[in-house]
Amino acid sequence: MNNKCPWCGSDKAQINLWLRDEFLTKEDFHICECLNCGLLYTMPRPSKGQIGAYYKSEEYYSHQENTKGFIPKVYERVKKVNLKHKYKLATNGLNVGKLLDIGCGVGDFLHTAEMHGWECTGVEPSEDAKAIAKKRMRGEIFSSEELENMPDGCFDLITMWHVLEHVDDLKWQVEQLRRLIKPNGRVVIALPNYKSYDGQYYKELWAAYDVPRHLNHFNKTTLTKIFKTSGLELIKMDKLRWDAYYISYMSEQYKLHSLPLIRGVYRGWISNCKARRSGEWSSLVYVFEKKMRN
Ligand SMILES: [Zn+2]
Repeated sequence: MNNKCPWCGSDKAQINLWLRDEFLTKEDFHICECLNCGLLYTMPRPSKGQIGAYYKSEEYYSHQENTKGFIPKVYERVKKVNLKHKYKLATNGLNVGKLLDIGCGVGDFLHTAEMHGWECTGVEPSEDAKAIAKKRMRGEIFSSEELENMPDGCFDLITMWHVLEHVDDLKWQVEQLRRLIKPNGRVVIALPNYKSYDGQYYKELWAAYDVPRHLNHFNKTTLTKIFKTSGLELIKMDKLRWDAYYISYMSEQYKLHSLPLIRGVYRGWISNCKARRSGEWSSLVYVFEKKMRN
């Protein structure tokens, strides 16, 4: 079993947390902290052949179009507001150009960007999601491996919305980002933040650990360090404020508490209040630029 850090390859690590796959299999996992680079990673790591089984749930994919009932309706509404916010945040100050969205799901973000005139390309491993995305947009959708065939520096903007935590080969992925982005281009990464109040409050039941689907767990320091080695410099940070509510609601369900929605909304609200001061939001969005050195 490979128990080396997926970023630096060190095998010196300490176990920070014991937890279960609360969402699907109830299997046991743990989270290691690399003593060399500080990255947190899930152990044991399912192999590429095994990982598909952990996504085999009708509920998991974001392409569920079920809008019956109160919660799905609220979810749909929030998704729309969130999409607008994500689009603004990612493209603010940029001219329309070429966009790559890695882990595009059913193409919600790409669809929005195309409407604003972006030339869009997607990458998506799920065949079902890919098929839906293809119907919704003009641009092409590829599988992850096909990133290697794309020419250097061909995108003005690359986005990964809650995707880097799922990536098995972190080094390869960061190298592709570095290679594919144009000089002075922008890379936008959204990630759960275990240093948030809800992360610290729910601990092993925090829904955004989501093991073993989430293999990597970042904080501001580890992510910034990783990207800096690839010449990508952090220029701005933002947040997805709705995620605190959703993650807290899911976590309350894992806790088997009564009234998970009310408790979750309350906890999410506290998390956001605290994050206004600390900056440790439940979901963080990092904006990097490829700085050119002469
Ligand atoms: Zn490491």
